[in-house]
Amino acid sequence: MEFESILLPGIDAKRPLVIAGPCSAETEEQVMNTAREVAATGVKIFRAGVWKPRTKPGGFEGVGSPALKWMMEAEKETGMYMATEVATEKHVYEALKYGIDMLWIGARTAANPFAVQEIADTLKGVDIPILIKNPVNPDLELWIGALERLYNAGIKKLGVIHRGFSTTDKTVYRNLPQWHIPIELKRRFPNLPIICDPSHIGGNRTMIHKLSQQAMDLNFSGVIVETHCSPDEAWSDKDQQITPAALKEVLDNLIIRDTIQTTEDLSVLRDQIDDLDNELLQLLAKRMRVSREIGYYKLEHDMPILQTKRYDEILTDRAYQGERMEISGKFVKQVLEAIHSESVRQQMVIMEREKKQSTQNEETAL
Ligand code: PEP
Ligand code: MN
Repeated sequence: MEFESILLPGIDAKRPLVIAGPCSAETEEQVMNTAREVAATGVKIFRAGVWKPRTKPGGFEGVGSPALKWMMEAEKETGMYMATEVATEKHVYEALKYGIDMLWIGARTAANPFAVQEIADTLKGVDIPILIKNPVNPDLELWIGALERLYNAGIKKLGVIHRGFSTTDKTVYRNLPQWHIPIELKRRFPNLPIICDPSHIGGNRTMIHKLSQQAMDLNFSGVIVETHCSPDEAWSDKDQQITPAALKEVLDNLIIRDTIQTTEDLSVLRDQIDDLDNELLQLLAKRMRVSREIGYYKLEHDMPILQTKRYDEILTDRAYQGERMEISGKFVKQVLEAIHSESVRQQMVIMEREKKQSTQNEETAL
């Protein structure tokens, strides 16, 4: 897929691309006040949710179409582009009818191929930028699938929003960032604009600056930040919304590192990394050879492959050792779990091969 790099006229490729505005459009006054203050910070694209996906019925489900009228008034007064979330064919028709400039597909909708296809079919022949949030579940292929559905419908002004992934664990985040997922997406589609949504990842206004900085350091294109003229009184997501003044502070304090490093120093260090990776691979291959020998031993002595107690000891011991070497224990555990699962796979291959061999021998004997 080849994407257009300029999503809207006047919004150039210079980082960060900023989208800001309230989680939801609530009243005409709230939309206008927030838009005026957001525009004063220099932001060019305004967001507001008009239809809100809620976990349970009965909560604030958005104002619907009247809010589109307020947004277009805000556009007329401030000159900002307007963006909103769509989840159905009807939302798309309504948003386009009013003249909304940019649409995004929410995380719950992105997880549903039928809904994404319906939106894609509705957008055939329409030249409008579309942003796709990551699906609530950490499934990169599903996220790419959503992109493909829109791309195949002829939409070339595409971007994605990384808003983190649902988890039932109690963490400091509302949605786990799992940065490796957007990083892999960027690796596969280097020209695709990736925008970070620190509001929905953090779930708390105190985390917005740090997450935005992390996104910039990972070379993301921009941020989408929930901004409200009176965040404590917001009708949805109030803990994570910030005032336009706080937004300005976040943006003013972002450090944008844009230098592409090609100095000698770095190439020496990169050579070292290549050598070390090579050594790591050789060590891993050696470790697997030993695992296979253990596999033959277990086979001869009729022992099961998985020796839980031993595995547990290895994990605890190595994690502790890692911590002492200034490597996170959690990371060491993840690496060892991956190594262990490859060892188990290799030992299973040995057992299977042996089983096949003995059945063949039995057959020949018959
Ligand atoms: C939103 O942007 O307000 C929203 C509902 O986000 P998400 O789809 O990421 O939950
Ligand atoms: Mn929200």
